[in-house]
Amino acid sequence: MIKEITVKTALSPSKLPGLDYALNPYRGCAHACVYCYAPSVIRWDKGKWGELVEVKANLPRILSKELRIKKKGVVGLGTVTDPYQPAEKNYEITRRCLELLLMHDFPVCIQTKSSLVLRDIDLLKKFSNIEVGITLTTLDDSVRTKMEPGATSVEERLRALKELSKNGIPAWVFMGPVMPYITDVEALICAIAEVKPKYMLVDRLRLKEGVWERVREFVQGFKPEMIADYERIFLKGEDYYSEVFERVMRRCEEKGVRCEMNRLE
Ligand code: SF4
Repeated sequence: MIKEITVKTALSPSKLPGLDYALNPYRGCAHACVYCYAPSVIRWDKGKWGELVEVKANLPRILSKELRIKKKGVVGLGTVTDPYQPAEKNYEITRRCLELLLMHDFPVCIQTKSSLVLRDIDLLKKFSNIEVGITLTTLDDSVRTKMEPGATSVEERLRALKELSKNGIPAWVFMGPVMPYITDVEALICAIAEVKPKYMLVDRLRLKEGVWERVREFVQGFKPEMIADYERIFLKGEDYYSEVFERVMRRCEEKGVRCEMNRLE
């Protein structure tokens, strides 16, 4: 379900590394990823995550006013929810915000799981400072359909990375969250190396409020025999990630992919 809402502010200060402002055209996200922790960030109390998306219909008008008075800084587009989720196809709120940001020459960093970002290549090409990050968590699209049911396919995301780079737009990969025993990091890095991103950021699964229940339900339906492994890691504190991340770093070095760990808590 989609509902239009109005907002009073557009840009909010961001504490994320490298970003000065956060801009989120939508509340709620139809990509409905099982591991999403946005509901706890925005204190979502409007039912099952993914079923309702609120469109900030007046956002471009508010942004236009703010850009005239705000100090120039890097704008993170889609820091909480995906700016290119399906509603964007018709509403074009993200596109209209990009037009304004371009007009005022604000640097922009986009993060998405959708190849719809390619629709805006004409605008992206004109920015003097822009980066687009595409998230990948698996190469297996049958896993993706269960884990990130509303997002675009793995193939489409790899195509988006290629197209962005081909058009001279710096593209990077967010490999996260690495899902224990599900994300094949070696295979993913090989595929990522082929599209030659500017860099890659890797992250673990973060069990913020409400996430464990959704991940547990997903694992139960996907491979119930893995429930015990997940409980050991996430309830009993078994160290799964140190070895995996060492492997990620090694493999990235071999493949010539610049890799950083997400240091956020
Ligand atoms: S795309 Fe991002 S915001 Fe949307 S459901 Fe997935 S993790 Fe959450």
